[in-house]
Amino acid sequence: MNHDNSRNLFDLALQYIPGGVNSPVRAFKGVGGNPLFFKSGKDAYLIDSDDNRYVDYVGAWGPLILGHLNSGVVEALHDQLKIGLGFGASTEGEIQIAKKICELVPSIEKVRLVTSGTEATMSAIRLARGYTRRDIIVKFEGCYHGHVDGLLVKAGSGALTLGEPDSLGVPKAYTDLTHVLPYNDIEAVKSFFAEKGEQIACIIVEPIAGNMNFVPPIPGFLECLREVCSENGSVLIFDEVMTGFRVALGGAQAAYGVTPDLTTLGKVIGGGLPVGAFGGRADIMDHIAPLGGVYQAGTLAGSPLAVVAGLAMLDQISQPGIYEGLNEKAGVLLAGLRERAAAANVPFTTNQMGGMFGCFFSEEESVTRFEQVTACNIKNFQTFFHGMLDNGVYLAPSAYEAGFISTAHGDAEIQHTLDAAEKAFSLINS
Ligand SMILES: *Cc1c(COP(=O)(O)O)cnc(C)c1O
Repeated sequence: MNHDNSRNLFDLALQYIPGGVNSPVRAFKGVGGNPLFFKSGKDAYLIDSDDNRYVDYVGAWGPLILGHLNSGVVEALHDQLKIGLGFGASTEGEIQIAKKICELVPSIEKVRLVTSGTEATMSAIRLARGYTRRDIIVKFEGCYHGHVDGLLVKAGSGALTLGEPDSLGVPKAYTDLTHVLPYNDIEAVKSFFAEKGEQIACIIVEPIAGNMNFVPPIPGFLECLREVCSENGSVLIFDEVMTGFRVALGGAQAAYGVTPDLTTLGKVIGGGLPVGAFGGRADIMDHIAPLGGVYQAGTLAGSPLAVVAGLAMLDQISQPGIYEGLNEKAGVLLAGLRERAAAANVPFTTNQMGGMFGCFFSEEESVTRFEQVTACNIKNFQTFFHGMLDNGVYLAPSAYEAGFISTAHGDAEIQHTLDAAEKAFSLINS
C-alpha cells in the first residue's frame, strides 16, 4: 500500500504545526510509523491522501455513529448554510436540541451547550464547586476528561499513549485539589469519603471508561459513587462525552440505571461538528450565570450549524432498533476477532456495549482494572494495528483508545475486517 502523499504531507505539516498534528494521538506515536492524512469519508469508509480505502473504526473518535456523510446530517447543514452561520444570540434550534437532550437523558433537566467536551467538563466541575462551595474533586485513574488543568492527572488515553500521564505547565497547586482513585475500586471510594466527604465538591467519572481502551464498571461501582455523593452532599458527574448516545440511547446511565446529578456530553451530539454540553438537575444548573454566581460563557456556543447537525443525528438515533443493531454487529465482529486470535495463538480478549468496544492483547479473561490495561502486550497491538492498516482497516492508533462501529458498517465491512484480522494476527507470532 502506497503512502507517499501522506508522508509528504506529514513532512510539510511538521514545519508549521507542532508535531505535525492538532491533537497528539493523531501522530501515531503509539503505533510507530507516519500518520495518515485523509481526504474523504463515506459511510463506513475513509479514503486517505493516496486514495487507499479503509473500513473505519475510529469514526472521528466517536461522533460518526451513523457513518461518514450521513445524508440527514448533511442536508440539515446545507439548509442552515443558506440562512445563517450564527448570530451570537439565541435561536429556536437551541431550544429544540436542549429539549431533545432532556427527553433522551432523563437526569438532565436543563442543559447548556459549549463547543468541546473539555469545556463541558471544565464547566461542570466549576459548577459543582460553586454549588457545593467546596474545593476537592475526585477523579479516577485512566479516565480522561479533556485537557482541563485540574483534570490532567493520570488522565489515560492520549496522555497514556505518550507515556506522560500528567502534563507540564499545570501548577501543582491546581491539581492539589484533585484526588485520584483507582477505577472500579469501591473500597478506595468509601474510605476516601469517610475521611474527606464533607470537603468533596464532586466525583467526575466516565461511567464506562473509554480512554483506557474500553473498561466497563464492575457491579456496584457506579451505585457506590451515587451513594457516597448523596450521603455527603457531593455532586456526581458522569462524563458521557464518549459514552453518551454511543453505548445506549440514554448513555451509560440508562444502561446501568444509575442517575448522576450532572452529565457532560460531546462527540455524538454534534453530529461531527465541534460541540459539547453539560446538564443535569435544574436546582444545580440554575447556579450558572446569568441566574447564579457561577460564570460560564461561549462566543460560538450553540452554533446553528452544530445544533442542526446534532438534531439531525439525535432524530435518527432515536429511531427504534439502532442500538440493538450496533450491539449485534459489534458482537459478531468481536466474536470473529476472538476466534481468529485463538486460531493464531494470540492472547486476546474484548469488551463491548452498543457501538463501542475494546480489544485487549491480554491473557486475562476480563479486563476491569487500569493495571490490567497497561499490562497488555503493546507490541502485539502495534503489529496488529499495522497489519490491519495494510489490509484496509483503520483502527485507533493507540492501545488505550476504544473502538467505534457505525450503522453504516454492514456484513461486507465486517467480513473484510475479519479477513484482514486473520492476516494481522498471523504476523504476531511469526
Ligand atoms: C473526548 C473526551 C473529552 C474531551 O472532549 P474534547 O471535545 O476532545 O474536548 C472529555 N471526556 C471524555 C470522556 C472524552 O472521551
